[in-house]
Amino acid sequence: MLYKTGLDFAKKQDQEDVLAHYRNKFHIPKDNQGNNWLYFTGNSLGLQPKSTQKYIQQELDDWAKLGVEGHFEAKNPWLPYHEFLTESMAKIVGAKPIEVVVMNTLTTNLHLLMVSFYQPSKTKYKIVIESDAFPSDKYAVQTQLEFHGFTAEDGIIEWKPRPGEELLNIEDLETILNQQGDEIALLLIGGVNYYTGQYLNLKRIAQLGHAKNCMVGIDLAHGAGNIKPELHDSGVDFAAWCTYKYLNSGPGSLAGLFVHEKHAYNKNLKRFAGWWSHNKTTRFNMRQPLDVMPGAEGWQLSNPPILSMAAIKASLDMFNEVGMDALRKKSIKLTGYFEFLINQLNNHKIKIITPKNPNERGCQLSIQVQNADKSLHHKLTEANIITDWREPDVIRCAPTPFYNNFEDVYWMVEKLKAIIN
Ligand SMILES: *Cc1c(COP(=O)(O)O)cnc(C)c1O
Repeated sequence: MLYKTGLDFAKKQDQEDVLAHYRNKFHIPKDNQGNNWLYFTGNSLGLQPKSTQKYIQQELDDWAKLGVEGHFEAKNPWLPYHEFLTESMAKIVGAKPIEVVVMNTLTTNLHLLMVSFYQPSKTKYKIVIESDAFPSDKYAVQTQLEFHGFTAEDGIIEWKPRPGEELLNIEDLETILNQQGDEIALLLIGGVNYYTGQYLNLKRIAQLGHAKNCMVGIDLAHGAGNIKPELHDSGVDFAAWCTYKYLNSGPGSLAGLFVHEKHAYNKNLKRFAGWWSHNKTTRFNMRQPLDVMPGAEGWQLSNPPILSMAAIKASLDMFNEVGMDALRKKSIKLTGYFEFLINQLNNHKIKIITPKNPNERGCQLSIQVQNADKSLHHKLTEANIITDWREPDVIRCAPTPFYNNFEDVYWMVEKLKAIIN
Protein backbone atom coordinates (compact mmCIF):
# COMPACT_ATOMS: atom_id res chain seq x y z
CA MET A 1 0.00 0.00 0.00
CA LEU A 2 1.36 3.39 -1.03
CA TYR A 3 0.32 6.15 1.34
CA LYS A 4 0.47 9.87 0.69
CA THR A 5 0.42 12.93 2.89
CA GLY A 6 -2.29 15.58 2.53
CA LEU A 7 -5.99 15.74 3.35
CA ASP A 8 -7.00 14.81 -0.21
CA PHE A 9 -5.52 11.36 0.17
CA ALA A 10 -7.45 10.73 3.41
CA LYS A 11 -10.70 11.90 1.81
CA LYS A 12 -10.16 9.69 -1.20
CA GLN A 13 -9.54 6.64 1.00
CA ASP A 14 -12.76 7.32 2.90
CA GLN A 15 -14.70 7.63 -0.35
CA GLU A 16 -13.37 4.28 -1.53
CA ASP A 17 -13.83 2.53 1.82
CA VAL A 18 -16.56 -0.13 1.52
CA LEU A 19 -17.09 -0.03 5.30
CA ALA A 20 -17.31 3.78 5.52
CA HIS A 21 -21.09 3.82 6.09
CA TYR A 22 -20.75 1.84 9.33
CA ARG A 23 -19.42 4.97 11.04
CA ASN A 24 -22.95 6.37 10.92
CA LYS A 25 -24.22 3.37 12.80
CA PHE A 26 -22.34 4.49 15.94
CA HIS A 27 -22.81 7.37 18.36
CA ILE A 28 -19.65 9.47 18.01
CA PRO A 29 -19.23 11.71 21.09
CA LYS A 30 -19.06 15.46 20.39
CA ASP A 31 -17.66 18.55 22.11
CA ASN A 32 -19.82 21.48 23.30
CA GLN A 33 -19.77 23.04 19.84
CA GLY A 34 -21.03 19.87 18.26
CA ASN A 35 -17.71 18.82 16.71
CA ASN A 36 -17.01 15.10 16.67
CA TRP A 37 -14.31 13.87 18.98
CA LEU A 38 -11.47 12.06 17.27
CA TYR A 39 -12.04 8.88 19.23
CA PHE A 40 -9.01 6.58 19.43
CA THR A 41 -9.86 4.60 22.54
CA GLY A 42 -11.82 1.67 21.16
CA ASN A 43 -9.13 -0.38 22.94
CA SER A 44 -10.53 0.86 26.24
CA LEU A 45 -14.25 1.39 25.65
CA GLY A 46 -15.74 0.85 22.21
CA LEU A 47 -18.40 3.30 21.03
CA GLN A 48 -22.10 2.58 21.26
CA PRO A 49 -23.85 1.20 18.18
CA LYS A 50 -27.04 3.17 17.53
CA SER A 51 -28.94 -0.12 17.46
CA THR A 52 -28.02 -1.00 21.06
CA GLN A 53 -30.83 1.00 22.57
CA LYS A 54 -33.43 -0.83 20.49
CA TYR A 55 -32.05 -4.23 21.50
CA ILE A 56 -32.13 -3.36 25.21
CA GLN A 57 -35.55 -1.73 24.89
CA GLN A 58 -36.90 -4.96 23.42
CA GLU A 59 -35.96 -6.84 26.59
CA LEU A 60 -37.30 -4.09 28.86
CA ASP A 61 -40.60 -4.18 26.96
CA ASP A 62 -40.81 -7.96 27.14
CA TRP A 63 -40.03 -7.89 30.85
CA ALA A 64 -42.75 -5.26 31.39
CA LYS A 65 -45.29 -7.22 29.34
CA LEU A 66 -44.41 -10.77 30.31
CA GLY A 67 -42.66 -10.86 33.67
CA VAL A 68 -41.27 -14.30 34.32
CA GLU A 69 -42.89 -15.66 31.16
CA GLY A 70 -40.25 -13.75 29.22
CA HIS A 71 -37.91 -16.67 29.84
CA PHE A 72 -39.93 -18.54 27.23
CA GLU A 73 -42.21 -16.02 25.56
CA ALA A 74 -39.97 -13.01 24.93
CA LYS A 75 -39.19 -12.28 21.29
CA ASN A 76 -35.70 -13.51 22.14
CA PRO A 77 -36.47 -15.96 24.97
CA TRP A 78 -34.20 -15.33 27.96
CA LEU A 79 -33.65 -18.95 28.86
CA PRO A 80 -31.46 -19.70 25.84
CA TYR A 81 -30.45 -16.03 25.28
CA HIS A 82 -26.71 -16.69 25.61
CA GLU A 83 -26.98 -19.15 22.73
CA PHE A 84 -27.95 -16.30 20.40
CA LEU A 85 -24.44 -14.89 20.92
CA THR A 86 -22.38 -18.03 20.61
CA GLU A 87 -22.08 -18.50 16.88
CA SER A 88 -21.16 -14.87 16.11
CA MET A 89 -18.70 -14.78 18.97
CA ALA A 90 -17.12 -18.06 17.87
CA LYS A 91 -16.60 -16.62 14.38
CA ILE A 92 -14.91 -13.51 15.75
CA VAL A 93 -12.26 -15.51 17.62
CA GLY A 94 -12.01 -18.38 15.12
CA ALA A 95 -13.54 -21.06 17.32
CA LYS A 96 -16.20 -23.77 17.08
CA PRO A 97 -19.50 -22.94 18.78
CA ILE A 98 -18.97 -25.66 21.39
CA GLU A 99 -15.77 -23.90 22.43
CA VAL A 100 -17.30 -20.50 23.24
CA VAL A 101 -19.71 -18.99 25.71
CA VAL A 102 -20.47 -15.44 26.88
CA MET A 103 -20.58 -15.15 30.68
CA ASN A 104 -19.33 -13.20 33.71
CA THR A 105 -16.52 -10.70 33.37
CA LEU A 106 -12.99 -11.23 32.11
CA THR A 107 -11.09 -11.58 35.38
CA THR A 108 -13.80 -13.82 36.81
CA ASN A 109 -13.48 -16.07 33.77
CA LEU A 110 -9.69 -16.20 34.12
CA HIS A 111 -10.12 -17.42 37.69
CA LEU A 112 -12.73 -20.02 36.74
CA LEU A 113 -10.51 -21.25 33.93
CA MET A 114 -7.53 -21.50 36.23
CA VAL A 115 -9.60 -23.61 38.61
CA SER A 116 -9.73 -26.13 35.77
CA PHE A 117 -6.47 -25.59 33.93
CA TYR A 118 -4.07 -24.64 36.70
CA GLN A 119 -3.60 -27.90 38.54
CA PRO A 120 -0.21 -27.50 40.20
CA SER A 121 1.80 -30.30 41.77
CA LYS A 122 4.53 -29.82 44.39
CA THR A 123 7.18 -29.59 41.70
CA LYS A 124 5.31 -28.35 38.62
CA TYR A 125 3.43 -25.25 39.72
CA LYS A 126 4.94 -22.11 38.21
CA ILE A 127 3.05 -19.73 35.91
CA VAL A 128 4.60 -17.76 33.04
CA ILE A 129 3.15 -14.32 32.29
CA GLU A 130 4.45 -11.35 30.31
CA SER A 131 6.52 -8.98 32.46
CA ASP A 132 4.14 -6.20 31.49
CA ALA A 133 0.93 -8.19 31.90
CA PHE A 134 -2.25 -6.25 32.61
CA PRO A 135 -2.48 -5.78 36.41
CA SER A 136 -5.74 -7.70 36.76
CA ASP A 137 -4.19 -10.77 35.11
CA LYS A 138 -1.14 -10.49 37.35
CA TYR A 139 -3.27 -10.26 40.48
CA ALA A 140 -5.36 -13.20 39.34
CA VAL A 141 -2.26 -15.33 38.81
CA GLN A 142 -0.70 -14.20 42.10
CA THR A 143 -3.79 -15.07 44.12
CA GLN A 144 -4.22 -18.42 42.36
CA LEU A 145 -0.65 -19.30 43.37
CA GLU A 146 -1.33 -18.19 46.94
CA PHE A 147 -4.61 -20.12 47.00
CA HIS A 148 -2.60 -23.27 46.23
CA GLY A 149 -0.02 -22.48 48.93
CA PHE A 150 2.70 -20.98 46.73
CA THR A 151 4.06 -17.44 46.57
CA ALA A 152 4.10 -14.99 43.69
CA GLU A 153 7.84 -14.28 44.16
CA ASP A 154 8.66 -17.93 43.62
CA GLY A 155 5.77 -18.97 41.40
CA ILE A 156 5.57 -16.26 38.73
CA ILE A 157 8.06 -16.39 35.87
CA GLU A 158 8.09 -13.21 33.80
CA TRP A 159 8.69 -13.32 30.06
CA LYS A 160 10.58 -10.06 29.61
CA PRO A 161 11.68 -7.96 26.66
CA ARG A 162 15.45 -7.87 26.21
CA PRO A 163 17.32 -4.98 27.87
CA GLY A 164 16.61 -1.71 26.09
CA GLU A 165 13.74 -3.26 24.10
CA GLU A 166 9.97 -3.02 24.45
CA LEU A 167 8.74 -6.10 22.60
CA LEU A 168 8.78 -9.76 23.51
CA ASN A 169 10.84 -12.36 21.64
CA ILE A 170 9.35 -15.81 21.22
CA GLU A 171 12.89 -17.29 21.47
CA ASP A 172 13.06 -16.02 25.04
CA LEU A 173 9.89 -17.89 25.94
CA GLU A 174 11.47 -20.96 24.41
CA THR A 175 14.55 -20.47 26.59
CA ILE A 176 12.40 -20.11 29.73
CA LEU A 177 10.60 -23.34 28.87
CA ASN A 178 13.80 -25.20 28.05
CA GLN A 179 15.37 -24.18 31.33
CA GLN A 180 12.39 -24.34 33.69
CA GLY A 181 9.68 -26.23 31.80
CA ASP A 182 9.62 -29.03 34.37
CA GLU A 183 8.51 -26.55 37.02
CA ILE A 184 5.96 -24.72 34.89
CA ALA A 185 2.28 -25.68 35.00
CA LEU A 186 0.70 -22.85 33.03
CA LEU A 187 1.38 -20.07 30.54
CA LEU A 188 -1.10 -17.19 30.76
CA ILE A 189 -0.25 -14.67 28.09
CA GLY A 190 -1.94 -11.58 26.65
CA GLY A 191 -2.50 -12.40 22.97
CA VAL A 192 -2.24 -8.70 22.11
CA ASN A 193 -0.32 -6.79 24.77
CA TYR A 194 -2.37 -3.90 26.18
CA TYR A 195 0.65 -1.58 26.39
CA THR A 196 2.73 -2.22 23.27
CA GLY A 197 -0.02 -3.56 21.02
CA GLN A 198 2.22 -6.54 20.14
CA TYR A 199 0.23 -9.48 18.75
CA LEU A 200 1.97 -12.70 19.67
CA ASN A 201 2.01 -15.95 17.71
CA LEU A 202 -0.56 -17.98 19.65
CA LYS A 203 0.06 -21.21 17.77
CA ARG A 204 3.78 -21.06 18.50
CA ILE A 205 3.14 -20.28 22.18
CA ALA A 206 0.79 -23.27 22.39
CA GLN A 207 3.35 -25.57 20.74
CA LEU A 208 6.14 -24.45 23.07
CA GLY A 209 3.97 -24.78 26.17
CA HIS A 210 2.53 -28.15 25.24
CA ALA A 211 5.98 -29.55 24.43
CA LYS A 212 6.73 -29.12 28.14
CA ASN A 213 3.34 -30.39 29.31
CA CYS A 214 2.12 -26.94 30.34
CA MET A 215 -1.41 -25.66 29.93
CA VAL A 216 -1.69 -22.58 27.73
CA GLY A 217 -4.22 -19.81 28.29
CA ILE A 218 -4.61 -16.55 26.41
CA ASP A 219 -6.10 -13.25 27.50
CA LEU A 220 -7.68 -11.78 24.40
CA ALA A 221 -9.00 -8.54 25.88
CA HIS A 222 -7.10 -6.56 23.25
CA GLY A 223 -7.49 -9.17 20.54
CA ALA A 224 -11.19 -9.98 20.27
CA GLY A 225 -12.74 -7.92 17.48
CA ASN A 226 -9.30 -6.53 16.61
CA ILE A 227 -7.18 -9.33 15.17
CA LYS A 228 -8.13 -12.81 13.98
CA PRO A 229 -6.76 -15.10 16.69
CA GLU A 230 -7.99 -18.39 15.13
CA LEU A 231 -8.27 -19.86 18.60
CA HIS A 232 -9.27 -23.37 17.59
CA ASP A 233 -6.37 -23.82 15.16
CA SER A 234 -3.92 -22.22 17.56
CA GLY A 235 -4.44 -25.17 19.90
CA VAL A 236 -4.40 -23.09 23.10
CA ASP A 237 -6.28 -24.73 25.96
CA PHE A 238 -8.37 -21.76 27.02
CA ALA A 239 -8.91 -18.05 26.51
CA ALA A 240 -11.02 -15.19 27.87
CA TRP A 241 -11.79 -11.65 26.72
CA CYS A 242 -14.02 -8.73 27.55
CA THR A 243 -16.63 -7.30 25.18
CA TYR A 244 -16.49 -3.60 26.07
CA LYS A 245 -13.27 -2.84 24.17
CA TYR A 246 -13.24 -3.67 20.46
CA LEU A 247 -16.54 -5.51 20.75
CA ASN A 248 -18.49 -2.32 21.53
CA SER A 249 -20.85 -3.93 24.04
CA GLY A 250 -20.93 -1.29 26.77
CA PRO A 251 -19.08 -0.50 30.00
CA GLY A 252 -18.49 -3.55 32.18
CA SER A 253 -20.39 -5.82 29.81
CA LEU A 254 -20.04 -9.59 29.94
CA ALA A 255 -16.99 -11.48 28.77
CA GLY A 256 -16.18 -14.31 26.39
CA LEU A 257 -14.71 -17.67 27.34
CA PHE A 258 -13.05 -20.28 25.14
CA VAL A 259 -12.21 -23.85 26.07
CA HIS A 260 -10.63 -25.89 23.30
CA GLU A 261 -12.68 -28.74 21.92
CA LYS A 262 -10.09 -31.25 23.13
CA HIS A 263 -11.34 -30.55 26.69
CA ALA A 264 -15.04 -30.30 25.81
CA TYR A 265 -16.06 -33.76 26.99
CA ASN A 266 -13.65 -34.18 29.87
CA LYS A 267 -15.96 -34.35 32.86
CA ASN A 268 -13.04 -35.02 35.19
CA LEU A 269 -11.67 -31.49 34.89
CA LYS A 270 -12.04 -29.74 38.22
CA ARG A 271 -14.32 -26.75 38.11
CA PHE A 272 -16.55 -24.49 40.16
CA ALA A 273 -20.11 -25.16 39.02
CA GLY A 274 -23.57 -23.67 39.36
CA TRP A 275 -26.99 -24.59 38.02
CA TRP A 276 -26.12 -23.10 34.62
CA SER A 277 -23.25 -25.61 34.29
CA HIS A 278 -25.82 -28.38 34.46
CA ASN A 279 -27.47 -30.29 31.61
CA LYS A 280 -30.14 -28.05 30.06
CA THR A 281 -32.69 -30.81 29.66
CA THR A 282 -32.85 -31.62 33.37
CA ARG A 283 -31.84 -28.26 34.87
CA PHE A 284 -35.33 -27.40 36.03
CA ASN A 285 -36.11 -30.82 37.47
CA MET A 286 -34.08 -29.58 40.42
CA ARG A 287 -32.77 -32.06 43.04
CA GLN A 288 -30.55 -33.64 40.37
CA PRO A 289 -26.93 -34.63 40.83
CA LEU A 290 -24.66 -32.30 38.86
CA ASP A 291 -24.43 -33.29 35.21
CA VAL A 292 -21.98 -30.87 33.63
CA MET A 293 -22.67 -29.73 30.07
CA PRO A 294 -20.02 -30.47 27.46
CA GLY A 295 -18.01 -27.59 26.05
CA ALA A 296 -17.62 -24.01 27.18
CA GLU A 297 -21.22 -23.83 28.42
CA GLY A 298 -20.26 -26.20 31.19
CA TRP A 299 -18.23 -23.38 32.79
CA GLN A 300 -21.29 -21.17 33.29
CA LEU A 301 -22.53 -20.67 36.83
CA SER A 302 -25.55 -18.40 36.82
CA ASN A 303 -28.47 -17.38 34.69
CA PRO A 304 -27.04 -14.38 32.86
CA PRO A 305 -27.97 -10.67 32.80
CA ILE A 306 -30.13 -10.28 29.70
CA LEU A 307 -29.81 -6.47 29.43
CA SER A 308 -26.05 -6.75 29.10
CA MET A 309 -26.42 -9.60 26.64
CA ALA A 310 -28.82 -7.53 24.54
CA ALA A 311 -26.08 -4.92 24.13
CA ILE A 312 -23.66 -7.67 23.12
CA LYS A 313 -26.16 -9.03 20.61
CA ALA A 314 -26.58 -5.60 19.02
CA SER A 315 -22.84 -5.42 18.47
CA LEU A 316 -22.28 -9.02 17.42
CA ASP A 317 -25.05 -8.76 14.81
CA MET A 318 -22.99 -5.98 13.21
CA PHE A 319 -19.77 -7.99 13.40
CA ASN A 320 -21.59 -10.91 11.86
CA GLU A 321 -22.84 -8.75 9.00
CA VAL A 322 -19.41 -7.30 8.19
CA GLY A 323 -17.11 -10.16 9.17
CA MET A 324 -13.63 -10.02 10.64
CA ASP A 325 -11.97 -10.42 7.22
CA ALA A 326 -13.29 -7.08 5.97
CA LEU A 327 -12.66 -5.35 9.29
CA ARG A 328 -9.11 -6.62 9.52
CA LYS A 329 -8.41 -5.64 5.93
CA LYS A 330 -9.46 -2.05 6.59
CA SER A 331 -7.71 -2.05 9.95
CA ILE A 332 -4.35 -2.96 8.44
CA LYS A 333 -4.72 -0.15 5.93
CA LEU A 334 -5.90 2.42 8.46
CA THR A 335 -3.18 1.68 11.01
CA GLY A 336 -0.58 1.52 8.24
CA TYR A 337 -1.67 5.02 7.18
CA PHE A 338 -1.44 6.22 10.79
CA GLU A 339 2.09 4.80 11.08
CA PHE A 340 3.07 6.42 7.78
CA LEU A 341 1.89 9.87 8.89
CA ILE A 342 3.64 9.59 12.27
CA ASN A 343 6.87 8.58 10.54
CA GLN A 344 6.50 11.51 8.14
CA LEU A 345 6.68 13.87 11.11
CA ASN A 346 10.34 12.91 11.29
CA ASN A 347 10.44 13.94 14.92
CA HIS A 348 13.24 12.23 16.86
CA LYS A 349 11.22 12.59 20.08
CA ILE A 350 8.48 10.31 18.75
CA LYS A 351 8.88 6.57 18.59
CA ILE A 352 6.26 3.93 17.80
CA ILE A 353 6.92 0.94 20.07
CA THR A 354 4.29 -1.30 18.44
CA PRO A 355 5.70 -3.85 15.95
CA LYS A 356 6.08 -2.61 12.35
CA ASN A 357 4.85 -5.88 10.88
CA PRO A 358 1.04 -5.74 10.46
CA ASN A 359 0.85 -9.46 11.30
CA GLU A 360 2.32 -8.72 14.72
CA ARG A 361 -0.10 -6.00 15.74
CA GLY A 362 -3.78 -5.07 15.71
CA CYS A 363 -5.08 -1.57 15.12
CA GLN A 364 -3.37 0.05 18.10
CA LEU A 365 -0.17 2.07 17.88
CA SER A 366 1.62 2.87 21.11
CA ILE A 367 3.51 6.10 20.62
CA GLN A 368 6.33 6.99 22.95
CA VAL A 369 7.02 10.69 23.24
CA GLN A 370 10.40 11.49 24.80
CA ASN A 371 10.28 13.86 27.80
CA ALA A 372 6.51 14.03 27.57
CA ASP A 373 4.30 13.98 30.62
CA LYS A 374 0.58 13.84 31.13
CA SER A 375 0.19 17.47 29.96
CA LEU A 376 0.58 16.17 26.39
CA HIS A 377 -2.44 13.97 26.92
CA HIS A 378 -4.38 16.95 28.34
CA LYS A 379 -3.51 19.03 25.29
CA LEU A 380 -4.63 16.27 22.96
CA THR A 381 -7.89 15.98 24.86
CA GLU A 382 -8.42 19.75 24.63
CA ALA A 383 -7.97 19.36 20.89
CA ASN A 384 -10.81 16.75 20.89
CA ILE A 385 -8.41 13.83 20.46
CA ILE A 386 -9.34 11.04 22.82
CA THR A 387 -6.34 8.78 23.41
CA ASP A 388 -5.16 6.73 26.30
CA TRP A 389 -2.17 7.83 28.35
CA ARG A 390 0.05 5.22 29.98
CA GLU A 391 2.82 6.21 32.37
CA PRO A 392 5.59 7.05 31.89
CA ASP A 393 5.44 8.44 28.35
CA VAL A 394 3.19 6.47 26.00
CA ILE A 395 -0.02 7.42 24.23
CA ARG A 396 -2.01 4.47 23.01
CA CYS A 397 -4.14 5.19 19.94
CA ALA A 398 -6.45 2.66 18.40
CA PRO A 399 -8.08 3.65 15.09
CA THR A 400 -10.83 1.04 14.83
CA PRO A 401 -12.05 -0.02 11.41
CA PHE A 402 -15.73 0.05 12.38
CA TYR A 403 -16.10 3.75 13.21
CA ASN A 404 -12.79 5.52 12.63
CA ASN A 405 -11.90 6.84 9.21
CA PHE A 406 -8.84 8.09 7.36
CA GLU A 407 -9.75 11.70 8.04
CA ASP A 408 -9.77 11.03 11.80
CA VAL A 409 -6.23 9.73 11.49
CA TYR A 410 -5.16 12.65 9.30
CA TRP A 411 -6.43 15.26 11.81
CA MET A 412 -5.04 13.35 14.75
CA VAL A 413 -1.52 13.53 13.36
CA GLU A 414 -1.90 17.17 12.24
CA LYS A 415 -2.95 18.17 15.74
CA LEU A 416 -0.25 16.05 17.39
CA LYS A 417 2.32 17.77 15.19
CA ALA A 418 1.08 21.24 16.21
CA ILE A 419 1.04 20.32 19.90
CA ILE A 420 4.51 18.76 19.93
CA ASN A 421 6.09 21.62 18.02
C1 LIG B 1 -9.25 -4.70 29.95
C2 LIG B 1 -8.48 -5.82 30.51
C3 LIG B 1 -8.86 -6.46 31.69
C4 LIG B 1 -10.06 -5.99 32.49
O1 LIG B 1 -10.62 -7.01 33.23
P1 LIG B 1 -12.14 -6.96 33.72
O2 LIG B 1 -12.26 -8.18 34.51
O3 LIG B 1 -13.00 -6.90 32.49
O4 LIG B 1 -12.33 -5.70 34.52
C5 LIG B 1 -8.12 -7.55 32.12
N1 LIG B 1 -7.03 -7.97 31.42
C6 LIG B 1 -6.63 -7.36 30.29
C7 LIG B 1 -5.44 -7.87 29.53
C8 LIG B 1 -7.33 -6.27 29.81
O5 LIG B 1 -6.92 -5.66 28.70
